[in-house]
Amino acid sequence: MTNAIRRFTTAALATAAIAAAACAKQGPATAAAPTAADAKKFLDAVNDDMLRLQIEGNQSGWVQQNFITDDTEAIEARVNQRVTDAIARYAKEAARFDKVDVSADERRQLNLLKLSLVMVTPSDPKLGEELTTIAARLESTYGKGKWCPDPAKTESCMNIDAVTKTMAESRDAAKLRQVWEGWHTISPPMRSDYARFVELSNKGARELGFADTGAMWRAKYDMTPDAFMKELDRLWDQVRPLYLKLHAYVRLKLREKYGNVVPADGPIPAYLLGNIWAQDWSNIYPLVAPKNADPGYSLDDILKQRKIVPLDMVRTGEHFYSSLGFAPLPKTFWERSLFVRPRDREVVCHASAWDINLAGDIRIKMCIEQTAEDFTTIHHELGHNYYQRAYSMQPVLFRDSANDGFHEAIGDTIALSVTPEYLVKIGLLGAAPDASRDIGLLMKRALEKVAFLPFGLLIDQWRWKVFNGEISPATYNKAWWDLRLKYQGIAPPSARGEEFFDPGAKYHVPDNTPYTRYFLADILQFQFHRALSKTAGCTLPLNRCSIYESKAAGEKLNAMLTLGQSKPWPDALAVIAGTQQMDASAIIDYFAPLDRWLDEQIKGIKTGW
Ligand SMILES: [Zn+2]
Repeated sequence: MTNAIRRFTTAALATAAIAAAACAKQGPATAAAPTAADAKKFLDAVNDDMLRLQIEGNQSGWVQQNFITDDTEAIEARVNQRVTDAIARYAKEAARFDKVDVSADERRQLNLLKLSLVMVTPSDPKLGEELTTIAARLESTYGKGKWCPDPAKTESCMNIDAVTKTMAESRDAAKLRQVWEGWHTISPPMRSDYARFVELSNKGARELGFADTGAMWRAKYDMTPDAFMKELDRLWDQVRPLYLKLHAYVRLKLREKYGNVVPADGPIPAYLLGNIWAQDWSNIYPLVAPKNADPGYSLDDILKQRKIVPLDMVRTGEHFYSSLGFAPLPKTFWERSLFVRPRDREVVCHASAWDINLAGDIRIKMCIEQTAEDFTTIHHELGHNYYQRAYSMQPVLFRDSANDGFHEAIGDTIALSVTPEYLVKIGLLGAAPDASRDIGLLMKRALEKVAFLPFGLLIDQWRWKVFNGEISPATYNKAWWDLRLKYQGIAPPSARGEEFFDPGAKYHVPDNTPYTRYFLADILQFQFHRALSKTAGCTLPLNRCSIYESKAAGEKLNAMLTLGQSKPWPDALAVIAGTQQMDASAIIDYFAPLDRWLDEQIKGIKTGW
């Protein structure tokens, strides 16, 4: 699951910050060339203001998501606008110190400040307002998106929740296709807005000295934008052979189920993979489940039978981190978190993790059900919380993960340690199933994590080229489907000309959230898992390793978390992995038993499309 956490960019900044920025401009330093002392003074002021503003933003965000009303939404929107404006002003002001000789730490803070926004509004107020308005409209067009099979009957209308449910559960190819095509009718109205959005946000990025918005996003990764793109290609090449086998096997099984609508050696129809974007295939597990590979237990059933209530599930998650040597969660965590859906008000149930005061007021917000999925999600969310607490001693500008992939990867790393053996150790399971049952568990995990990789990669491949002009509005949709074919090996049910705008049917495009972080997180979690398992002394196959109770692994993990964003990410990676290079071969190691099994299943069958 990709769960939102409260980030820097959506956090708070208010009137005092604006005043402070104005002060700096009027100060004596602006007349002469700025000095190192000015830079230090500027950063001190920014760190102070960012802290206060982020707290204000977190508080208004927390209240809005826990009590959804017109008023809390208005307050939240107002605070966010102030924060974004202030950060933009600070980011532009940081450029004043580009040529000043400052310490490495200060240089890093100045750079991070310039990179802290995903969208920069042009300084021309008219254009700035136009961009903000378009961005809000894109998001709300998506949010209100509904497909109505029968426009005369409003009760037939499907929002994204209904669409998601049908895609997950229906096995009726005609219906799946209809719903898939239906959902993609919400996005054509976004097309012209998106083109203008690209123009204006590029203008803002150029004012900060970046070639375009995509180049600004890629500059966050402690290497040149081009080197970073090459790095992603290298990682993808490492996992592509495994993806091709999984793709060929799934295609075979879908052909057994749906017949000729699935080609024997071509791309898989996008609407048959259990998810509207074909980014996570785990919903079609029953169609592709290996025979005789049922793990023999159901964590869903165990949680229900043993009456393990949501609070117990969170305690179990905490216990895992405590077993690694982390301090217990603070009392306020238990008092202030949201654990179950309230009966009397509207809340945002999408799981998230918060640090309201950036200094240990950590919380999760979830509507926990007694399911294995939520049990895993708890471990994931707590990973954010322990990360946030570990870096809270850093300067405010360093209170974030080493790169944006790291934050999402930590909790998932821990979730990989929730193995059958671990469940035995904590008394939830009598005995672990033997290794022959691993194929079922691995298949399910591969449908989620391996199937996701090409999708996680291509969203920004498309956007970076849109931002740099290689893809023009005249070829938005063609370029989108070329990439989906190239990376995912999937195809739309019929020709998708430029009268459509299919990228807009994926939330992160109209919402303008960079997506490469999810690809990186998917790679990093397996690399972390392999390195920490080794530290923990695990000699089992990687998919059976759990770092539960390993103080040595916990120490390494904590050492990395504590760094926050203070060092380039390769340095942080090296603390755990012993190398500065990302390495997707851990995925190959982890899925090795499945890889061998797939070889048997697809013997004599052509892979690829
Ligand atoms: Zn998350």
